[in-house]
Amino acid sequence: MVQSSVLGFPRMGVNRDLKKATEAYWGGKLSQAELLAEGKRLRLEHWKLQKDAGIDIIPSNDFSFYDHVLDHIQLFSCIPDKYTKYNLDPIDEFFAMGRGLQKPQTDKDSAVDVPSLEMVKWFDSNYHYVKPTVQDGQKFKLKSDPKPVVEFLEAKEAGIITRPVLVGPVTFLALGKADRGQKVDPISLVEELLPVYEELLTKLKEAGAETVQIDEPSLVLDLPPRVKKAFKPVYEKLTGLGDKIPKLVLATYFGDIVHNIDVLPALSDVYGIHIDIVRNPEQLETVIGALGPKQLLSVGVVDGRNIWKTNFRTAVEKAEKAVQALGKDRVIIASSSSLLHTPHTLESEKKLEDEVKDWFSFAVQKTHELTTIAKAVTDGRFSVRDQLEANSKSIHARWISARTNDPKVKDRQSKITPVMFERKSPFPIRIAAQQKLLNLPLFPTTTIGSFPQTKEIRIQRNRFTKGEITAEEYEKFIEKEIQDVVKIQEELGLDVYVHGEPERNDMVQYFGERLTGYVFTTHAWVQSYGSRCVRPPIIVGDISRPAPMTVKESKYAASISNKPMKGMLTGPITCLRWSYPRDDIHQSVQAEQLALALRDEVVDLEAAGVYVIQVDEPALREGLPLRKGLERENYLSWAVKSFRLSVSGVQDSTQIHSHFCYSEFQDFFSAIAALDADVLSIENSKSDAKLLKVFVDEAYPRHIGPGVYDIHSPRIPSEEEIKDRIQEMLEYLSPEQLWVDPDCGLKTRQWKETKTSLINMVNAAKFYREKY
Ligand code: GLN
Ligand code: ZN
Repeated sequence: MVQSSVLGFPRMGVNRDLKKATEAYWGGKLSQAELLAEGKRLRLEHWKLQKDAGIDIIPSNDFSFYDHVLDHIQLFSCIPDKYTKYNLDPIDEFFAMGRGLQKPQTDKDSAVDVPSLEMVKWFDSNYHYVKPTVQDGQKFKLKSDPKPVVEFLEAKEAGIITRPVLVGPVTFLALGKADRGQKVDPISLVEELLPVYEELLTKLKEAGAETVQIDEPSLVLDLPPRVKKAFKPVYEKLTGLGDKIPKLVLATYFGDIVHNIDVLPALSDVYGIHIDIVRNPEQLETVIGALGPKQLLSVGVVDGRNIWKTNFRTAVEKAEKAVQALGKDRVIIASSSSLLHTPHTLESEKKLEDEVKDWFSFAVQKTHELTTIAKAVTDGRFSVRDQLEANSKSIHARWISARTNDPKVKDRQSKITPVMFERKSPFPIRIAAQQKLLNLPLFPTTTIGSFPQTKEIRIQRNRFTKGEITAEEYEKFIEKEIQDVVKIQEELGLDVYVHGEPERNDMVQYFGERLTGYVFTTHAWVQSYGSRCVRPPIIVGDISRPAPMTVKESKYAASISNKPMKGMLTGPITCLRWSYPRDDIHQSVQAEQLALALRDEVVDLEAAGVYVIQVDEPALREGLPLRKGLERENYLSWAVKSFRLSVSGVQDSTQIHSHFCYSEFQDFFSAIAALDADVLSIENSKSDAKLLKVFVDEAYPRHIGPGVYDIHSPRIPSEEEIKDRIQEMLEYLSPEQLWVDPDCGLKTRQWKETKTSLINMVNAAKFYREKY
């Protein structure tokens, strides 16, 4: 019989229960015992729910109070001294590593002040993990009462035999880094770490675990030889332990492993391999060919990263291919990755229209999909005929729906011509025309778009959404906010103003709500990091812009300003990346549709007298495919094209800005240059000014505003400090090129610190203006 399996389940619970519990615990409103009990309740609920769906292989140890990599950091006692020295309670030490801890001294305890460990994106997802941070001479030790064992027994007690999930030793170290000032290469510690895995796996076996899922997703990356070489000794050693440990299913996801296929023979004694064939169906044959004679294959056919209903026909076909080659006993039907990246259940969505709702599948629904597919390949398709029929009907309905297909959009896309990607003239001509129109001084000052989103703004927006105030009243309120920020910018003496974005709830949702092709959920939260969740909008159909989206506010702002007003838009790639994209047409097509909609907006802004327009693309880099090569080049090519398409409809004299929240462009500088934006504002206050060297090396001719101060903290930078920062920048950029601005938007700040910081910034700019 073909078994079904889930690689991991979302942790938050149906109503973000885990978020509420952890935040209440941090705020001192929930006791530790209550927090632990809530964790236990959620785990049990999620196991039961999978069992009820008929899932054969249910994961445990996929739960975490913050992050599963952080769990392993603690499990292996890989904790830097700066945390252990406080002798905190284990759970508080755990949270201290995840989010930092500042606590004043009390009668009982001394003061605590530690920052968090570094947190980074988990592969190309929007989930963030805590980076293992190792020391020279690092030792590892298995924590007593190891979490994977405790949770396995907890499930066992409830009558559910689970398959514990561990992050594999190679991936754990490959994702790690040496602590500041340390020289150790994490992967060199693999021999140190291995005995801890042996001990842990032995304990799991003693507890009754028959199989363990060991995650080695690093196999989908381009691996340095020393990391690749580590697999063989590690898995030979572990499988050499025979019956003393559970059977291992090594899981890879988010990519293919074909480029690392030469590692597989070394893994041939591993019980099973899991691959993601939603992302890379073409790897199936190669991997089947490389399996050992008895090895199992777990085929990931239900997408763990998106919200679309699985197409049963194609999923069953793929699974049958595996069954034909290997036999029913050697195939497992699985989610492509952990379901962590999908919302909990579609049942919670009460406001979605039935037509659209029928197209989606969240984590709970995906468990049912898995059992259906497993049954289809075990007992034949007729055994689940009704489900297959309903599924194909729904897939077909989506395919032909008027919502997904807008002939006008397709027609417009077919008429895109090469000139539409080009500004009318090259940069030197453009900048001269812009200078004439805008008349800006040297070292022009500006901000990145948003001003503090005060409590009052949120209250009024809420009242408007709830219908407590009329559209007219809300509009009046927004106008008043705009007047205020214009006046403040006048007082501060900034050179290019912004309207402050008071009307925007979120930089993608705001545009999504004004475009056709988008839908929004009420409960579809997914974990981003720790207790933080996001609720991305969903692109369901062809995208178009029925009416201007930002013109009213920007036009009004420009009309009351005595200096240039900068219009503010979210770029096509960011709109795409921070939404759930469609899976029925290529992302490049969706980006192009977004670009056309934004192009109209840009042109309308210009016609309304807004001659500086910023198109934010902070998500451009995170969309970079994981591996170098063709896929990455293709992505950059269509990403750049969509940006250019969105901004190239304007006159030479209109100045196009773009903004990125980082300054590491080394990997893809040519793409940044190819955007051809007149002015780029980037983050730089927290990074080394040396990063700007790439602009010199590549003789970048256009204007750049590297952020001169950090907006993530309420700290006020002094004028001197900003001057020093500008001085450092002038080592790389010419005075004619340099703009002066903060790192990013100011929406999370308070007015008090914002004003003083900007006064200091403007004064620093004036100082250099006089000097040059
Ligand atoms: N214009 C946006 C703002 O100022 C930019 C936000 C971002 O880059 N994340 O808020
Ligand atoms: Zn930013």
